Amino acid sequence: MVLVWDEFLKIIKEEAGSQIVETWFKSVGLDDWNPALNTVTLRAPNQFVSSWIQDHYATLIKTHLGRLLHVNDVRLFFVTSGCENIRDRTIIPASVILSTPHNNKTMGSGESTSLVSQRVQLPEKKTKEKPGPNIQGHYVFENFIVGPSNSLAHAAGVAICENLGKIYNPLFIYGGTGLGKTHLMHAIGNVVRKKHPMLAIRYETTDRFINEFINCIRFDKFDQFRNKYQKLDLFLLDDVQFLSQKEQTQEAFFHIFNTIYEQQRQIVISSDTFPQEITGLQSRLKSRMEWGLVADIQMPDLETKIAILKKKAELQNVILNDDVAEFIASRVLSNIRELEGALIRVGAFASLTSHPITIELARRVLLNLQEQRREDLLLETVLRVVARHYGISIIDIRSKKRHKDIAYVRQVALFLMKKLTFFSLQAIGESIGGRDHSTVIHAVAKIEQLLAQDRAFEQKLRLIEREILS
Ligand code: ADP
Ligand code: MG
Repeated sequence: MVLVWDEFLKIIKEEAGSQIVETWFKSVGLDDWNPALNTVTLRAPNQFVSSWIQDHYATLIKTHLGRLLHVNDVRLFFVTSGCENIRDRTIIPASVILSTPHNNKTMGSGESTSLVSQRVQLPEKKTKEKPGPNIQGHYVFENFIVGPSNSLAHAAGVAICENLGKIYNPLFIYGGTGLGKTHLMHAIGNVVRKKHPMLAIRYETTDRFINEFINCIRFDKFDQFRNKYQKLDLFLLDDVQFLSQKEQTQEAFFHIFNTIYEQQRQIVISSDTFPQEITGLQSRLKSRMEWGLVADIQMPDLETKIAILKKKAELQNVILNDDVAEFIASRVLSNIRELEGALIRVGAFASLTSHPITIELARRVLLNLQEQRREDLLLETVLRVVARHYGISIIDIRSKKRHKDIAYVRQVALFLMKKLTFFSLQAIGESIGGRDHSTVIHAVAKIEQLLAQDRAFEQKLRLIEREILS
C-alpha cells in the first residue's frame, strides 16, 4: 500500500504542487484498501487535516487513487490518529467528518486547543519557504527507458544538457498523455542542476505559470514576474497547450521567450500536440516554438513497455518475472502511467494476499481492465449513440469540419471507441473519416484530461457508455 500512496503523492505533487503535498498530504497515510468494497481508508494526524483534505481534495484523491487502483467510485473513509486513544481504528465516514470539522466533543479541551493552533500554523510555515527550481529528483535519465517511440526526444534531451542554449533551442517535446514528457523535462533539469549548480533553473507547469502571472498582475508585481523568468538559464515549461486562449499570459511568455532565447539560454517546452496544432495560440508563438527541435513521443512498442515495467518493478522492489511483465505490458494499451498503475495494483494485491506475482494473479487483478471492452461491439454502435446524445449527425462527425462542437463530439466518439472496443487505433481513426492513429491518441488524451477535471462530464460519459454497452 505504501507504493500506491507514494505513487499517488507523486501525481498530486505534479498536479497541485509540492507545497500542498508537503503541507497536507505528507502527514497522511493510506491505512487500508478493501478491494471487495472499493473503500479506501486514509489516516490523518488530526481532525483538522482530515477535514481540510476532505473539503479541498476529495475529488482529486478519488480520481487518482481510483486510477491507480483501477476501480471506479472509490469510497473514502478517514481515521485520525488523534482519535486513536478514544476509538482505536474506528472508521469515520467522510460525511461525518465534514459536518463536524473542528468539534470533536469526545476530545479533551487540551487537545482541541492544539488542533486549533495547528490550524493556524500549518499553511503559514510553508509559505515562507523560498521557491526552488521545482525539479523532481526521481525523474532521471537513468530511469527512463529508451525505445523507438521516444528515442529522438530522449537524445535531444541528453544533447541539450551538454550544450545548453547552443543547439535545439527551444526543445519542443510533444506526445499523448502519460508517455514521458514530464519525466524527460525533470531529467534534463536534474542533469543541468547537478552539472551547473549556480545556474538559474525552473520547471513550471503551464497551469501554475498562468496562475502566477494572474496573481502578479492582480498585485501589481508584473515586473517581478518577468524578471524572475527572464533571468533563467533553463526554463522548462510543461503542457504548454494550456496557454490556449490565455492571451495575456501568452504575451508575457512571448517576451520572456525572446529574452531567454536571445541570450542563448535554454528553453524546453512540452505539449500534447505539435506547435501548429495547438489551438488558440498566437501564431508568432507557434512559429517560435518550431525554431529549435520538435521531437515527438509515441506509445511504446511491446518490448519497450516490458523494459519500462521491469525498471519500475526494480525501483519499487517488486519481483516481476519476464512472463508476467509481458502479460501486463500486452494488456495495457493506453499509456505508461496506466502501465505503472497496473503494476502497482498487481503488486499491492500480491503483497496484501502474500502471494507471489504470477500470470494468474495478474490476470485476476487486471480483469476489469479487460471486461469493459467487448469483442462484439461495433464502432458504428459507439458512433450512433454518441451522435444521438450530443445531437450532432454522424455525417458531421465523420466530416472534415473543425467547428469546436463537432470536434469535441468527434473526440468523445474516438475516446469511447478506444475504451470500449478491441479495434486498433488505426481502424478507429479510419472509421471516422479516415483519420490517423495520432488523432485518436490526441482525442483520448484530451478526453482523459477533461474527465479528470469535470465531474459532470464524467457522469455524462458513464451514461453514454452504459447505453452503448446495453
Ligand atoms: P506525460 O508528461 O507525457 O503525461 P509522464 O512523464 O508524467 O507523462 O509519465 C508518466 C509516467 O510514466 C511517469 O511515472 C514516468 O516515469 C513513466 N514513464 C514514461 N515514459 C517512461 C520511460 N520511457 N521509461 C520509464 N518510465 C517512463
Ligand atoms: Mg506531463
